[in-house]
Amino acid sequence: MTTVLLLGGTAEARALAQLLVDQDVAVTSSLAGRVAQPRLPVGSVRVGGFGGIDGLREYLRASGITHVIDATHPFAAGITENAIKACTAEGVPLLRLERLGWSASPGSDRWTWVADHDEAAAQTARLGSRPFLTVGRQSLDRFVGSLSEAPALVRVVDEPELSLPKSWRVLRDRGPYDVVSERALLADRDVLVTKDSGGSWTWPKMQAATELGLSVVVVRRPSAALDLPVVREVEQVLDWLH
Ligand code: NAP
Repeated sequence: MTTVLLLGGTAEARALAQLLVDQDVAVTSSLAGRVAQPRLPVGSVRVGGFGGIDGLREYLRASGITHVIDATHPFAAGITENAIKACTAEGVPLLRLERLGWSASPGSDRWTWVADHDEAAAQTARLGSRPFLTVGRQSLDRFVGSLSEAPALVRVVDEPELSLPKSWRVLRDRGPYDVVSERALLADRDVLVTKDSGGSWTWPKMQAATELGLSVVVVRRPSAALDLPVVREVEQVLDWLH
């Protein structure tokens, strides 16, 4: 019998969980547990790390997992690497579901593409004085040094653990967003900072920034070439399972 482990934490992972449950496929979604009140997928869910590659191998064996689908965020490189190693060692087929990035999107040739968050921080300080940071709570520490005096607006799901400069304002929110509200939020900003998350879920901020003529700093995805099959759309996973 097919028993799927779905590594999640993304909108497409939730959509895939729904699809698999609708198809009567046995699936357990796995979340890292980073967000205090996560949006839960339908069906069975487990929360928390596995304990590295060995822990994941043990989980695969103990739970009789026949297929693993890695639908984690494009920037969650650690769990993807662990999944490749654990599945290879256990002989369990692994598929990566990864949304396309924004590098071919309208206006992307005018954005400033950077290799990592440190470079993003330096470019942000150079390009503007009123940044909007949408890089996630865990990456904020990289911006504190360069932007300690700037009136930055920071959007996060959960309250950041580190203490932020007094000039920064924290906005707690989670997508999806629309272009009208993003345009209003960006009206008094001069630079938007984001990861190349891709997909449509957070695209409205990119469109609004382009329309308003803001500078946009985009952190490129981790570049490691993945040695596993990759699909872009949720429905393609069914073909692979069959
Ligand atoms: P990461 O650096 O790739 O993973 C670090 C560790 O967290 C992993 O070794 C694993 O712990 C645990 N982990 C990560 N994803 C897991 C999952 N789906 N189920 C069980 N354990 C998981 O991950 P991250 O960048 O901190 O992201 C954590 C989660 O948030 C991911 O699942 C991702 O889909 C979601 N997310 C990340 C971002 C982002 O920008 N990074 C954005 C949106 C959502 P063990 O070694 O103990 O197994």
